[in-house]
Amino acid sequence: MTHIITSLCLRDGGCVDVCPVECIVPGKPTAEWPWFYIDPDTCIDCGACVPECPYAAIFPEDEVPNAHTAKEGQRLSRPEGAAVYDGTDHNGQAVHLDKTIVMKAGEVVDLRPDIEPNYKFFKDGPGYSAK
Ligand code: SF4
Ligand code: SF4
Repeated sequence: MTHIITSLCLRDGGCVDVCPVECIVPGKPTAEWPWFYIDPDTCIDCGACVPECPYAAIFPEDEVPNAHTAKEGQRLSRPEGAAVYDGTDHNGQAVHLDKTIVMKAGEVVDLRPDIEPNYKFFKDGPGYSAK
């Protein structure tokens, strides 16, 4: 199995520093690959990245929720989004995303479609050449 980063990821980057096998890679270009991605072939399922994420975006693959209940103002980073996000990562560096969705409290969203991009990024996306 592997851990999965979902579209709740807003590129904070804190997870990267704690991964003992360095398998978390920032997606680029962000218009096409807006999150960070976990290489499923390298992840050892240690779980160290999970508590580091300020957006609670990381799950073991078999626990990615199909009915995640949003908090007020929680964002999804998805291509169909139209809300601009400007924030900072855990190093204080600027993060800019053009396509996010701002959710309302109690809104329910299926995060399971976010599993596939983690595989695709490393199979035939830019993560492949990074290996
Ligand atoms: S810590 Fe969370 S928001 Fe930051 S890059 Fe990792 S998964 Fe994304
Ligand atoms: S579960 Fe462990 S090995 Fe897998 S991405 Fe997170 S920190 Fe890295």
